[in-house]
Amino acid sequence: MSPNDTLWQTILKDLEKLYNEETYNELFLPLTSTFKDSNGLITMVVANEFLKNRINKLYIAKINELASKYSPTAVRFKFISEDEVKHDEPVTDRQLTIDYRQGNLNSTYTFDSFVVGKSNMFAFRMAMKVADQPGAVANPFYIFGDVGLGKTHLMQAIGNYILDNDVEKRILYVKADNFIEDFVSLLSRNKNKTEEFNAKYKDIDVILVDDIQIMANASKTQMEFFKLFDYLYLNNKQIVITSDKPASQLTNIMPRLTTRFEAGLSVDIQVPDLDHRINILKRKTATLDANAEISDEILSFIATQFAANIREMEGALIRLVSYAQTFDLEITMNVVEDALGAVLKTKKKTNELTENNYDKIQSVVADYFQVSLPDLIGKKRHSKFTVPRHVAMYLIKLKYNIPYKTIGTLFNDRDHSTVLAACEKVEKDIRMDGNLKFAVDSIVKKLDSALLK
Ligand code: ADP
Ligand code: MG
Repeated sequence: MSPNDTLWQTILKDLEKLYNEETYNELFLPLTSTFKDSNGLITMVVANEFLKNRINKLYIAKINELASKYSPTAVRFKFISEDEVKHDEPVTDRQLTIDYRQGNLNSTYTFDSFVVGKSNMFAFRMAMKVADQPGAVANPFYIFGDVGLGKTHLMQAIGNYILDNDVEKRILYVKADNFIEDFVSLLSRNKNKTEEFNAKYKDIDVILVDDIQIMANASKTQMEFFKLFDYLYLNNKQIVITSDKPASQLTNIMPRLTTRFEAGLSVDIQVPDLDHRINILKRKTATLDANAEISDEILSFIATQFAANIREMEGALIRLVSYAQTFDLEITMNVVEDALGAVLKTKKKTNELTENNYDKIQSVVADYFQVSLPDLIGKKRHSKFTVPRHVAMYLIKLKYNIPYKTIGTLFNDRDHSTVLAACEKVEKDIRMDGNLKFAVDSIVKKLDSALLK
């Protein structure tokens, strides 16, 4: 049996468990072997259009999820009808096939596996709309937020959804740094000719550009991207972009690009709250090991320790679960300490480091508003002091997401509710008050450069 056939047999076993007998017997049982494989796109042939459409509408996402679970290499299944076999064109360009079809998308990054909460609800809903009607709802669709909060996941979910509904769609996922590399290596091979580059990038339905901020300073590449952007945009092709900051704050990216980004729809992803993080952990635990039992206390401990970055939080969970599996242990607090001890220690160190940065936020804010540090932290109630004070609280929460109570201790021992109210007020006010928004944006910029030092 070929490796692909073996893979398919493994998937079949799961499908049999997942769906009722009738569905299984009608749709999957007759499919005994795979038809062909072009660079990881595995084609299966079904009897007719009707069966093909049913599988493509209802089951393909699951099948591809299982495929990536069981296959060591990136693969994706495609179903075609017997009629289509006759018309199936030979694949001419290997490179393009990999890029478009499989879209180097990670097929576990789906809407289904994305846990929704307050911090990402709007982004999620709009992403679903974009995926439902590519090119028609929001173009470009711009997702921003801090590292590890799900931008790549959500962006790829759009691609996977579109592909699962129409396997013919050409989806190109490209990290901004690869886009630069591609362009630069092309120029070095052939100084004047960009046709090859254009052919690769122009013949697509959806482009997903990840981490656009990396294009800063790469002005030739930006120029090329700008041309591509306009071409795709004018042809109603969906463009999705992610970034670590709003388009208005991108530095060293040409204004003609940033204004185009701003003209589409921007959504942000914030740090999820504790309950949301616990839900993410629960979902992840289920996919890691159906038998792993982790108490709420331990989940809540992990969610608290890894508050600001879901990737790190997931990493800790994976480490814990595999540690427990390896030594066949029940997951207790002691096991958590043994499994995560080293990680927690380094985390503690970085937390200590960032603690000094709370002062930095306070001093940058005080400086911006021209008030003294004691007045910023102190008790004076004139708006000259309260506005900067609230902004400083808000920014500390935004940047470090430490508990309100802890922030209170940095401001003359104010209590939880005072800080909470301040943060909510600033969040609300910047939506209405352009001056305040400008002030906050400028402070963030200053901070970003100050914190690097
Ligand atoms: P970013 O691109 O913003 O740095 P990623 O999309 O790479 O972040 O997300 C980091 C990890 O966290 C990924 O494994 C992703 O699946 C996971 N993740 C992020 N947000 C969610 C969510 N809402 N639900 C489930 N998993 C999530
Ligand atoms: Mg990312």
